[in-house]
Amino acid sequence: MIAVLKSGTTLAQRNHLVDWLKAMHLDVHISEGAEVTILGLVGDTSRIDMDLLKSLEMVETVKRVSEPYKQANRKFHPKDTIVEIGDVKIGGGHFAMIAGPCSVESEEQIIEVAQAVKASGANILRGGAFKPRTSPYAFQGMKGEGIQLLLKAKEATGLPIVTEIMNISTLDLFTDVDIIQVGARNMQNFDLLKELGKTNKPILLKRGLANTLQELLMSAEYIMSEGNEQVILCERGIRTFETATRNTLDLSAVPILHTMTHLPVVVDPSHATGKAGLVAPMAAAAAACGADAIMIEVHNNPSCALCDGAQSLTPTQFDSLCKQVQAIREVVL
Ligand code: PEP
Ligand code: MN
Repeated sequence: MIAVLKSGTTLAQRNHLVDWLKAMHLDVHISEGAEVTILGLVGDTSRIDMDLLKSLEMVETVKRVSEPYKQANRKFHPKDTIVEIGDVKIGGGHFAMIAGPCSVESEEQIIEVAQAVKASGANILRGGAFKPRTSPYAFQGMKGEGIQLLLKAKEATGLPIVTEIMNISTLDLFTDVDIIQVGARNMQNFDLLKELGKTNKPILLKRGLANTLQELLMSAEYIMSEGNEQVILCERGIRTFETATRNTLDLSAVPILHTMTHLPVVVDPSHATGKAGLVAPMAAAAAACGADAIMIEVHNNPSCALCDGAQSLTPTQFDSLCKQVQAIREVVL
């Protein structure tokens, strides 16, 4: 439920109302605009007598919000959230290009790829250190050592880094990581989300393989309700009956999410398609439909990659993708 206060409401009046609402065991989120103040009421609002609330002198309107996500909801927070990572901004018209290998494999590999993607225009480096693999026999990532190598690549290039966490027990290893990724398979690991909500790091939250957009936003809500509002959503393809691609890239998620939420939306065409040849056209499409960032897997030698070589671009292919995306953005903006 949201209550819009009349302009001219004094702080004392507002505090009085907030105390009254809190006494009904509701959380009250205050959003202060230039003209009006909006109170977002979270909890069991069924106890509230809407007519009584509306009748109060300081209250302009009261609305029931049917969506169960509150903090991620654009209704409470009409302005786009801009996530800032050093000089890099994502959201609210700021576009980022995230690129790097599926997995960190060696110092030479990650530094070479980092330098190449930076030269083509990437402004964030990705690389998996903890890898959620379908098979326990597949390469599981370099773990803590992988994060150390990412930090070396960051030092060599100045690019901020994003890497995936699978278990909160490893959080200490992420102290110098710029963005923590929650992979598709952990989108509903609620204990992990709650703990990440207590950190002050931006979280890149990937959509689960079979999750709705509302479920994605409820997972964002888990992070935000613990105090961390820096959430970046990622569409990475969903499981459908189609087998021609690894997943089905749901690009309509981008404009839909932009209406549902103020959080930035990233598109990952690499995991969505699973095929290197489809990555550039889908990246162009993502740019055309308003993605706030695009995340691309790039490997210096895809045929020898320890993970996801089939969908990885060479640095040269990535360079031409960047030019295409740039051209598309100039047309649609
Ligand atoms: C990844 O980005 O490395 C990854 C494992 O992706 P997803 O969780 O989307 O499968
Ligand atoms: Mn991958």
